[in-house]
Amino acid sequence: MDGGETKVKKGTAVVVGGSIAGLSCAHALTGAGWKVMVIEKSRSPPTGTPTGAGIGLDPLSQKIIETWLGESDSLINSTLPLTIDQNQATDCEKRMNSILTRDEHFDFRAVHWSDLHSLLYNSLPDDIFLWGHRFVSFSISHDKNCVNVVTEIDESGEIVEIVGDLLVAADGCLSSIRRKFLPDFKLRYSGYCAWRGVLDFDTITDLKQAYPDLGKCLYFDLGYKTHSVLYELPRKRINWIWYINQPEPDLKGNSVTMKVSNEMIERMHEEAEKFWVPELVRVIKETKDPFLNVIYDCEPIEQLCWDELVVLVGDAAHPTTPHGLRSTNMAINDAAILGKCIEKWGSVNNLKAGLDEYQTTRLPVVSKQVLHSRQLGRVKQGLRGDFDMKMASPDDFRELQQRNMPFFLGST
Ligand SMILES: Cc1cc2nc3c(=O)[nH]c(=O)nc-3n(C[C@H](O)[C@H](O)[C@H](O)COP(=O)(O)OP(=O)(O)OC[C@H]3O[C@@H](n4cnc5c(N)ncnc54)[C@H](O)[C@@H]3O)c2cc1C
Repeated sequence: MDGGETKVKKGTAVVVGGSIAGLSCAHALTGAGWKVMVIEKSRSPPTGTPTGAGIGLDPLSQKIIETWLGESDSLINSTLPLTIDQNQATDCEKRMNSILTRDEHFDFRAVHWSDLHSLLYNSLPDDIFLWGHRFVSFSISHDKNCVNVVTEIDESGEIVEIVGDLLVAADGCLSSIRRKFLPDFKLRYSGYCAWRGVLDFDTITDLKQAYPDLGKCLYFDLGYKTHSVLYELPRKRINWIWYINQPEPDLKGNSVTMKVSNEMIERMHEEAEKFWVPELVRVIKETKDPFLNVIYDCEPIEQLCWDELVVLVGDAAHPTTPHGLRSTNMAINDAAILGKCIEKWGSVNNLKAGLDEYQTTRLPVVSKQVLHSRQLGRVKQGLRGDFDMKMASPDDFRELQQRNMPFFLGST
């Protein structure tokens, strides 16, 4: 015995999902002294690929990530400020925007999903990752002291079993771990889908005439029963999203992103002309490979932890619509608080107390944020009967601001 053997037995966490929630948990749990294994079905990390699009990081997430990265400017260098949150009405006949509400004390930062993934991934040890491993099932020992996780290697079909003290479900909004506890759980279709994409900024010179605060502003353009989002990302890229009301599409496969045809893209381009200012139409038209997300959320679930050693984080715990810029921020916050609770209660023997505290802390916050996001989306899509854009007062428009999000300043 070298004196390193202490009375406090730290455990091993098996994290399913190597996206933002999974990586965040890996940081938070290793920080709490736990051993971590991350199982991810994708065959390799998405480093250097154009996967994904833009994300707005709130001040608390920025602080948490900086703690994990341990160097002060790598996050700053990969992000741009979003110091203004502006909602504007688009007059589609005059083809111009007019400001409805402008908050100049916003303190978010814009990051590309794959840059954020790389930052989090590159600051973790390589040997904790099992890429190309599909989670298949898990079983819990009778004494609820350990969990056996079964995975299948994508390439070979070989089965690999991993034993841990804690199972973290970071497997996204269609979580198969959640399904085991909530077999009847259903996602709620929002009533709309979102076209989105990222455009190389160099190709549009007059964009700043219509959007003068690009580089520091989160723009929301509101049209008739539709809205769009526009902001700049580092390396001269523009992130855009356009929400369109429509019946629920028939999704194939295990994803909320739809395959799109050239005809669908052409139709979308034609429609864009009818709703948006010419500068935004050009951004949309010049974007290569736009993609289509079907927007879902769910009624807040009542439990985040089961069987004393299974815990849900990120989209697995609280699928949400994107209007409050919450999904990634909630995932990062979940992980940070999970790490703190587990560290506070110390050993594997006190895991239940740590998980209970995580659940008690996070449930009220994420539940309110999901429901608020839903309302924001419904107002902006003209789906909430009691909010009439034409009759609304300046006070009503302030409802649209991001800072009305419950727990906007964080919950810790
Ligand atoms: C490739 C990708 C790109 C994205 N790009 C954006 C973006 O640009 N903007 C934005 O706002 N949001 C984006 N998102 C969503 C965003 O990451 C989440 O909404 C939010 O960050 C919460 O993350 P999460 O880790 O909880 O869920 P997710 O990001 O959905 O991650 C879930 C992870 O679990 C893995 N997984 C699922 N099932 C299994 C299984 N059976 N076995 C092993 N692994 C499994 C998935 O492959 C995925 O990596 C993206 C997600 C992904 C996966």
